[in-house]
Amino acid sequence: MTQDPYEILGVSRDASADEVKKAYRKLARQLHPDVNPDPETQERFKDVSRAYEVLSDPGKRQAYDRGGDAFSQGFGGAGQGFSFTDIMDAFFGGGAAGGGATRGPRSRARRGQDALIRLDATLAEAAFGVTREIKVDTALTCEACEGQGTAPGTQPTTCETCHGQGEVAVVQRSFLGEIRTLRPCAACRGYGSIIPDPCRECSGDGRVRTRRTLTVKIPAGVDHGTRVQLTGQGEVGPGGGPAGDLYVEIHVEPHKTFTRHGNDLHTTISLPMTAAALGTQLTLPLLEADVASGDSETATTFELEVRPGTQSGTEQVIRGFGVPSLRGGRGDLVVSISVNTPTRLDPRQEDLLRELAAIRGEETPDGQVEAPHKSMFGRLRDAFQG
Ligand SMILES: [Zn+2]
Ligand SMILES: [Zn+2]
Repeated sequence: MTQDPYEILGVSRDASADEVKKAYRKLARQLHPDVNPDPETQERFKDVSRAYEVLSDPGKRQAYDRGGDAFSQGFGGAGQGFSFTDIMDAFFGGGAAGGGATRGPRSRARRGQDALIRLDATLAEAAFGVTREIKVDTALTCEACEGQGTAPGTQPTTCETCHGQGEVAVVQRSFLGEIRTLRPCAACRGYGSIIPDPCRECSGDGRVRTRRTLTVKIPAGVDHGTRVQLTGQGEVGPGGGPAGDLYVEIHVEPHKTFTRHGNDLHTTISLPMTAAALGTQLTLPLLEADVASGDSETATTFELEVRPGTQSGTEQVIRGFGVPSLRGGRGDLVVSISVNTPTRLDPRQEDLLRELAAIRGEETPDGQVEAPHKSMFGRLRDAFQG
């Protein structure tokens, strides 16, 4: 087993630092424990790593060339506790002379954030869609500097600390030799350049808060909480970066007669007891009445037939008169009938009702106990217990 680091790495005595590095890189790829965990390979990897530590350090290499013991400074466990990534970082991310590509300075331009704005809409506007003007307060590109952040007529200057790289190498000594890690340059915050004379309008940020009016088309069928996305209308990014998106969140105001359940509309109409018993036809205002203009051909009412003998709590479903779905189609309109019992009877009305009761044999009726599932409570309970 050779102790000659040149032999271990397979390089000549006059190999350049670059050649040493290349040789080690090649061997490290083959032998690293993450790649090849068998014990014999790991032993070789330790040797290779130690050899590289000597040959990559000019002082140690000189000492060895002068006849010193290559591995005099004992270090156990070489090659362990170091991940393949660390080693590859040392070379490829390292930015060492002749090494792999660097990441370079980062751009001042970044994508802006998304913005959220709330829009109150009536039930009809949400159901049938509406075009509204909204005021939004977002960052827009600074016109004075066109997003560059520099005062007019000036330019960013190259950072002297990192020479425009945006990164500085931090060198750590280890058994593998020098490990060079790149850190963002603190002087320029990684941009590689400094703005010596920032734009006065935006203080160098490249954007300014601006209030503007946007026209928003709310599609038919949106519901409470629906977010309408307006691409590129959010916050403009710093440094002239692209804008995020604007989300318009719909808040639907309660309606005085309709409530919405999914795409169905529910409404309750009350009828006198006599009409419920005798049957009737009534004109039901539709949600369309809220938005239809006078010359519109859209029907705003529905002629509802109430059959004779309609009970309180009866629901009539009018197909296709609910809320349009975002995916097409329309929900239903569910009309609940509430039957009103008269509360004040004049003497003649009372006489008539007593006569009616007598004819129907209902002067002293026993109440009928209903099966639970027919009662409102029963239906609710069924609904919740599924
Ligand atoms: Zn500016
Ligand atoms: Zn810098």
